[in-house]
Amino acid sequence: MPPLKAYEPIVGPQVIGELYLLAEKTKRWSVQNINSTAVGGGVAEILNRMIPFLQELGINAKWDVIKGGEKFFKVTKKFHNALHGRVEEIGPDDFSVFDETSEMNNKNMELTADIMFIHDPQPIALINQKDSKRAKWIWRCHIDVSNPDERVWNFLRPFIDRYDAAVFSAPALSQPLPLRQFLISPSIDPLSDKNKDLPDEMIRNVLERFAIDPEKPMVTQISRFDYLKDPLGVIDAFEIVQHHLDCQLVLAGGEATDDPESTEVLDKVRERAASNPDVHVLAIPSGSDLEINALQRASAVIVQKSIKEGFGLTVSEALWKAKPVVASAVGGITLQIAHKYSGLLCHSVEGAAHAIKQLLQNPEYATKLGQNGHEHIKQSFLLTRHLRDYLLLFLSLFYDGDVITL
Ligand code: UDP
Repeated sequence: MPPLKAYEPIVGPQVIGELYLLAEKTKRWSVQNINSTAVGGGVAEILNRMIPFLQELGINAKWDVIKGGEKFFKVTKKFHNALHGRVEEIGPDDFSVFDETSEMNNKNMELTADIMFIHDPQPIALINQKDSKRAKWIWRCHIDVSNPDERVWNFLRPFIDRYDAAVFSAPALSQPLPLRQFLISPSIDPLSDKNKDLPDEMIRNVLERFAIDPEKPMVTQISRFDYLKDPLGVIDAFEIVQHHLDCQLVLAGGEATDDPESTEVLDKVRERAASNPDVHVLAIPSGSDLEINALQRASAVIVQKSIKEGFGLTVSEALWKAKPVVASAVGGITLQIAHKYSGLLCHSVEGAAHAIKQLLQNPEYATKLGQNGHEHIKQSFLLTRHLRDYLLLFLSLFYDGDVITL
């Protein structure tokens, strides 16, 4: 990984200097991050980058993953969907499965840091280990809980209420809670394999490997195969565009170990795409960062037609590459795209199709939107801003009036 100094040409030396200054004040506290998967999805993506940089700043930061069987992850996927407002069949057995696995993790995990940083609902019950010692507990919610299924939300509330603080990506994705709340949006790493510049030859090789025509305009959605990412809706929109323009669609994604639903979704997508040779459905293994980078860079338009979204890192990744993006006006996507300025927002299959067609037919307009998007990501959603927010959060947890408590 590049050292923090390597980011100076992008964000300026003051930004990096400030991080070291803040780290001086916060490195007395150790930080333990816990989530439910080491690979796949935005949370793992963020932790993969943030932990090494916190360590470089001198913070004793680590990352652990809870354990759970298929039954548990089926339940937590249902919780995830229900918190996003999707209708799910949830019964008393589901809550028991959650409790049993939580208890097992509580027995087996050693939680010793000064700051316990718990990500999303799956590991939320680790709060049962909170005692009167000085450790501060943060619940970091990466999903949109503004309109949750009441049963699931009410089940989680007694856990949440015992945390010292909650972090959401944006006010519109949060809930009123009787604890301190912080609003910290996620970030991307501009120098990671996922986002760094790539030579044209490497991009061409990736297209060749996936049997994609390099001459035909390419519309792409990169996402886990998840109903909430609406891959079938993307195909519907693409086929409307195809009536007017010769182009191809790439739907690329992998699996996350905490998402047992993805195989079913991938099968449905493959079935739906089978009759259309211009739709490429790519199941790519985790860690294929250079491939994803190349696919994004090769695209004429990038789509993120989510039905619900937490933040939508794939949108930041596309905008950082100055790509024109068509995305649903949901979750954190609206923080990233100002309609007709840094991308096009859509609300339906027809709306998405119209926007994709407009961008394919107006390359100058598309380029302008991509450039504006790049600038916006640079200002607000790079990992240096994220690190600064985390360090300030740590500081404020121990700040009590005029003194910093230890
Ligand atoms: N991603 C990936 N491989 C895939 C699908 C997605 O590496 O097959 C990455 C994607 O590039 C992004 C993250 O996983 O960095 C997805 O984050 P996002 O916030 O868009 O969605 P989430 O999966 O967390 O709902």
